[in-house]
Amino acid sequence: MKLTYREVKTVAQGRWGSILSNMVGSIMDDAIDRGSNRHSTCPIHGGKQPFRVFKDFEYTGGCVCSQCGSFGDGFAFLQEKYSWSSTESLEQVASYLGLTNKSESVPFVPLKNTVRPSTIKPEEIEARRLKIQQLWSIGLHAHEKGAEPLTHYFFNRGLNIEHIPDSLRLVLSHGYYEGQSFKGNYSVILAPVLSPNGTCVALHRTYITPNGGKALVESPKKLYTKGTSLRGSAIRLFPAQQTLGLCEGIETGIAVNQMTKMPVWSCVSAALLKMVDVPKTVKTVYIWGDKDRSKAGQQATKELAERLYAEGKEVIIKIPELEIPQGQKSIDWLDVYNLQRTSQQSYFSRRRA
Ligand SMILES: [Zn+2]
Repeated sequence: MKLTYREVKTVAQGRWGSILSNMVGSIMDDAIDRGSNRHSTCPIHGGKQPFRVFKDFEYTGGCVCSQCGSFGDGFAFLQEKYSWSSTESLEQVASYLGLTNKSESVPFVPLKNTVRPSTIKPEEIEARRLKIQQLWSIGLHAHEKGAEPLTHYFFNRGLNIEHIPDSLRLVLSHGYYEGQSFKGNYSVILAPVLSPNGTCVALHRTYITPNGGKALVESPKKLYTKGTSLRGSAIRLFPAQQTLGLCEGIETGIAVNQMTKMPVWSCVSAALLKMVDVPKTVKTVYIWGDKDRSKAGQQATKELAERLYAEGKEVIIKIPELEIPQGQKSIDWLDVYNLQRTSQQSYFSRRRA
């Protein structure tokens, strides 16, 4: 018996909370508990605060992540989460709801942390590529006149502004949107995310104020993707040598470079860190992992280390030894770098501010 989308959808209506809770787990429960007005960790890419369910979530399963995209219903969300085709997504939900005969039911085999092949049209990819290129072409380097908000930003994060990588640029005024709605113009720090063959697949943007604070918006850090896969990609803060450092955040990468002088690539998130491709010429990899209460950073570090080791690389894992301070969700190497030069109490009270 072949079920139609309409049939499964009808039975699923009003039950999406329990469907996705069972199929995704506690990270989904947290997002459901928070409802449509509050943000939570993204169940797809693991980012800290970019995700929320829609008002009609219980009815449709719809939800949105500022990095992974907007999902009109629970089927679309599951497709992205588990890299399923639309048919697989439908069959899995039908099976969960008991709509299939036992003999026909499909085993639930989530493909963890894989990236769905793009379904975006070539024209759309080309339009996005042009937008990325245009924005990048007007960006100023750190040392150029007018780029002061960029140097102020890194200074405020405790970094030595003499060594800001050339791979970052600043655009003085750029629109910030939440969904389709315009929220204001801000200065924005740009960092290109390059695929293993060196093509730009996304532009990472950090929205900041003129005096170098994080913009007071819902998601001051965003990824504008071209619409192609991000698998293997990273922000190449410094050119790789025989030794390469890998981490999640841009500021963490710069801090590690300033502590150790090693070239570092930032992989943006734990999900992308796990998947990064390291060039063949690199012999030794240092993974500078975040220490998260959720363990996402530590887990990504471990998975990446195992894969790179199997590829024949020498791998050294670096996770901060310090305890995660009270009231904080994580500690990273930027924190460690700053703590070396200031008292813990004054640093974390400033970081919270
Ligand atoms: Zn996400």
